[in-house]
Amino acid sequence: MKGNSSRRKFLAAGLALPAAGIGAVTRPQTLGLAPAAAPAGGGLRYKVLGKTGLKVTTVAFGSMITSDQSVVDKAIELGINYIDTARGYQNGNCERMVGAAIKGKRQNLVISTKSGSETKQEALAQLDESLKTLGTDYVDVWFIHGKSKGSQLTDERMEANEIAKKAGKVRFNGVSVHAGHEEIIPAIVQKGHLEVILSSYNFTLDDKIDPLLAQAKKAGLGIVAMKVMAGGVRRAKPGDKMSTLMKREGAPLAMLKWVLRNPNVDTTIPSITDMDQLDDDLKAMTQPFGAPDGKLLAAHLGDIRPFYCSMCGSCEGSCSKGLPVSDIIRYVSYADGYGQFGLGRENFMQLDAGLRSVRCGDCAGCTVECPNGVRVAERVALAQEWFA
Ligand code: SF4
Ligand code: SF4
Repeated sequence: MKGNSSRRKFLAAGLALPAAGIGAVTRPQTLGLAPAAAPAGGGLRYKVLGKTGLKVTTVAFGSMITSDQSVVDKAIELGINYIDTARGYQNGNCERMVGAAIKGKRQNLVISTKSGSETKQEALAQLDESLKTLGTDYVDVWFIHGKSKGSQLTDERMEANEIAKKAGKVRFNGVSVHAGHEEIIPAIVQKGHLEVILSSYNFTLDDKIDPLLAQAKKAGLGIVAMKVMAGGVRRAKPGDKMSTLMKREGAPLAMLKWVLRNPNVDTTIPSITDMDQLDDDLKAMTQPFGAPDGKLLAAHLGDIRPFYCSMCGSCEGSCSKGLPVSDIIRYVSYADGYGQFGLGRENFMQLDAGLRSVRCGDCAGCTVECPNGVRVAERVALAQEWFA
């Protein structure tokens, strides 16, 4: 998805998409949330996740970088009823933490996990491992993890998902999409039997993604938005040198509200690591996106433009040393945007040794041109300095 001016114009105006047609269901707030308060006016909001029929809170829990189980506990206590995880997150520790948090409450929750494996045998083995680690007999949604091309939806992997469904180990199948929306979303729709799309979606992306989500929604798929924070959620902390990006006050809440105003989005899974973020999530369910939010995000876009890679794919294959630059910039964002240095390094170290040994400083000039203004060589060099 390439960056575009129409999205930016919209942000400045604070107008464009119609207000989301979501049903409000008031739920008593029986417990306080320290240090944050329950959302003004109270109540959670729910939508039905496409043809699955699952009724989920419009903001769910993304657990990829959560290390504190008490945050998951509190979210469940407050009524957030959908938790997303993946086999690969935190080397399996994420599923372990989620499993501990949902113990005794499983039947009231929607749980999704993922496997990116392309072979039937490995995918099904990973699912069994997920179920064991989560302490449940089934997951509600099992995603084929991180695909961007129709050709990656192989017959073998489709068969694995169908076998799992017939065995009652998964209720519904889906695909998670980080990039390549224009190719893979129509391919998912065309498959006919997939039920949920987990797609990156945030205010920086090209508005070409909107009709794709509308197409999927019309076909009955449930739409879950991820990467809604455009590269980071962390607030700056005094003395923290890596916390330089996401410091515009109010931006995380505005970003969430922006996503929720799209009527084709059923729910979102922002990464939640602390009570402040949880408080933003609760507020986002009840507060409308307004013109001040649009102005705030327009300014925020200026802040993050040099650093945030939207994985639009325009620069694919253009690094003269063969580096997957958008992936590497994402790893840097894990560190300085999300405060997850270990996650960034862990991903970087999975690159081939030859790619890990490349140094941008050895290039006479960078061959990668980013139409969205990302300072590619600077960000990639940072990864080499921090992780290699
Ligand atoms: S760095 Fe590459 S993938 Fe990322 S936004 Fe720029 S052109 Fe797109
Ligand atoms: S400076 Fe870095 S990103 Fe740019 S071409 Fe060289 S190795 Fe690739």
